[in-house]
Amino acid sequence: MIILSINAGSSSLKFTGFDMPSEKVLISGVFERIGIDGSFYTIKLNGEKIKKEVELKSHEDAVRILTEELVNYNIVKDLSEIKGVGHRVVHGGDKYADSIVIDKNVTDTIRELFHLAPLHNPANLMGIEAFQEYIPEATAVAVFDTGFPQSMPEENYLYAVPYEWYEKYGVRRYAFHGISHQYITEYMQKFLGKENVNLITCHLGNGSTIYSIKDGKCFDTSWSFSTNSGLVMGTSSGDNDTIVVPYVMKESGMSMEEVLNTLNKKSGLLGVSGVSSDSRDIEDGIKEGNERCILAQKLFVNRIVGYIAKLWCPLKKVDAICFAGGIGENSIMTRKQIIEGLSSLGVELDEEANNVRGEFKLITKEGSKIPCYIVPTDEEVMIARDTYKLID
Ligand code: AMP
Repeated sequence: MIILSINAGSSSLKFTGFDMPSEKVLISGVFERIGIDGSFYTIKLNGEKIKKEVELKSHEDAVRILTEELVNYNIVKDLSEIKGVGHRVVHGGDKYADSIVIDKNVTDTIRELFHLAPLHNPANLMGIEAFQEYIPEATAVAVFDTGFPQSMPEENYLYAVPYEWYEKYGVRRYAFHGISHQYITEYMQKFLGKENVNLITCHLGNGSTIYSIKDGKCFDTSWSFSTNSGLVMGTSSGDNDTIVVPYVMKESGMSMEEVLNTLNKKSGLLGVSGVSSDSRDIEDGIKEGNERCILAQKLFVNRIVGYIAKLWCPLKKVDAICFAGGIGENSIMTRKQIIEGLSSLGVELDEEANNVRGEFKLITKEGSKIPCYIVPTDEEVMIARDTYKLID
């Protein structure tokens, strides 16, 4: 059975076609710069990468071209062979703990939550609507980034603000990247041969998060109310004191939008280093002795070490610390610095084992208080699995 796994962003649409239940990837790719000059798409197929430049005015254009290419490249003879389309949806509020077949109620809810995820939910919905037009007979499924962390207990998701703010306005901690953390959790459950795993899972990429997993369920995370919270990210500040916003507005004359945009788009690794949001550039800067890159990396690593320690304590026993995401899977330097930061808690790096990129591996010494693993994540297959489960 063929299932498409879709991740629609504001100007991009990523896709993977799976044969299920074998989970074999048949085709994958991404449409980029949708609605912007210079749009193009790339397709990966049989170990080859094909790039085509084409005008993409909207997500609908991308989906139309994708459906044509699926037939052109013989993935399907007829679109009716695609039985399911799973969509990553960033914000499901506290309405959805599990993936769900999309109907009007679901699209209405995704729309109602635009104000909580103004960059992501509208793009996710555009993707859903475009597929409904071109492959209407396929079962459409919403897989929420906020779903897996719905198991957090109240004391971990509430703020110490008037309780009515939660009741009336939904002010609470949500958490994103849930699809990735769920994948890592299920991978480790299989690897360790038990359901009740206690883990600390670190998804470190352009956006970064840490979850604590207790008995196989999300217990706490580094996220807060918005996507700009918790860890230092590529261009976002992560945690800040609320008062920073009105203070900078007053001192600089910037509007609230300008300050928030600066915290979102011009902060993080980019804001501190003044060089780049990309951790590869930061590493290059460090090798060249660039003080600001060294500082940006210290902030990035310190925040991670602090959150691991904070999330570890309530779990008492932790089976493993896991690293995933572009940085977690590939940055030998960052993993080394994080694990060295945990050495006072008895975590001991195996430098030789850590010298790899992008493969599942134990990277701590045998006597380490907690073993650390690289666990390459796969959000696409997670979306395909949930979609497959929901098809009658
Ligand atoms: P993601 O958002 O998960 O795609 O991750 C993007 C981040 O991963 C960027 O900051 C990249 O610089 C980083 N990354 C990817 N490959 C490497 C690498 N080989 N070494 C260091 N960082 C990397």
